[in-house]
Amino acid sequence: MGDEKKVAGVSPCTRCRAPAVALVRRTGEHLCAAHFVASVEREVQETVERTGMIRDGDCIAVGLSGGKDSSVLLYILSRLLRDRPEVRLLAITIDEGIAGYREETMKAARALTADLGVEQFVVSFEDAFGRSLDAFLQNPAAPNPCTLCGVLRRRALQTAARRAGATKLATGHSLDDEAEAALMNVLNGDLKRIARTGIPGNAFVPRIKPLGGVPEKEVTLYAVVQGLFLPLPECPYAGQALRSEARTIISTLEYRHPGTTMQFMEGYTTLRERGAHCLEEEGATGGFTRCEECGEPATGRRCQACSLLASLRDE
Ligand SMILES: [Zn+2]
Ligand SMILES: [Zn+2]
Repeated sequence: MGDEKKVAGVSPCTRCRAPAVALVRRTGEHLCAAHFVASVEREVQETVERTGMIRDGDCIAVGLSGGKDSSVLLYILSRLLRDRPEVRLLAITIDEGIAGYREETMKAARALTADLGVEQFVVSFEDAFGRSLDAFLQNPAAPNPCTLCGVLRRRALQTAARRAGATKLATGHSLDDEAEAALMNVLNGDLKRIARTGIPGNAFVPRIKPLGGVPEKEVTLYAVVQGLFLPLPECPYAGQALRSEARTIISTLEYRHPGTTMQFMEGYTTLRERGAHCLEEEGATGGFTRCEECGEPATGRRCQACSLLASLRDE
């Protein structure tokens, strides 16, 4: 009796009439597990093809934290690249050193790479910078934990990708992540900065975001359907106020007006590219130079990571 009720309440898949697991609000389609998986993978494939972000001969390093987004990214890329032996795939996991929080995801990252047969490189903050995030944060001069962690993680990923011989560094940013960052840039009102982000930087290993067209909700559901979801404690340092407010605004708009996030990003991307084009015509290079200390791209004499490390050393 209970079972019948449950089945009766489930909408059939728009494409095959099997019980649906998802309502994709922006298309209005109910999808079964198989069709949902296929639709997410097609979205990623279209992003990859439209932007030409993965080319023959590329070595793609996936920044794999072991959380759901990066796990989904590695999983989907390993499937999409199955028939492209001319593209190499590897994973880089950064262990920031956050006691009581990172252990489970580190384990998940190891298990996933072993399952998929993808080579994994693990680098700890301690290896890269001499101290764990926890230890850095003991310093009273340390900035906001998320800022420090983000800057050092990006640096460690970049260095590890270069050392591993990668030609592209792929991160698991979803459509929502991109839209939040875009909204924050708009709210900060620095148009020059927005334009600058449209100029291909001179990072040694260019970054790509193959999940950039997939809404966060779909990334999460994909992780659940494929058994990649790991319920996680919240990071003990979490809480960037502006970003979490940006997230609420975007998810509220998307809920009330499905498709808004994608439209916003299409508009934002066009603006950014036009802005970048104008800057380039003026002969600007995005303001990037090389860091005097480490040689990575910087906007001043020192890159962000080296400046932060220096400020913590001087203390
Ligand atoms: Zn179906
Ligand atoms: Zn530097």
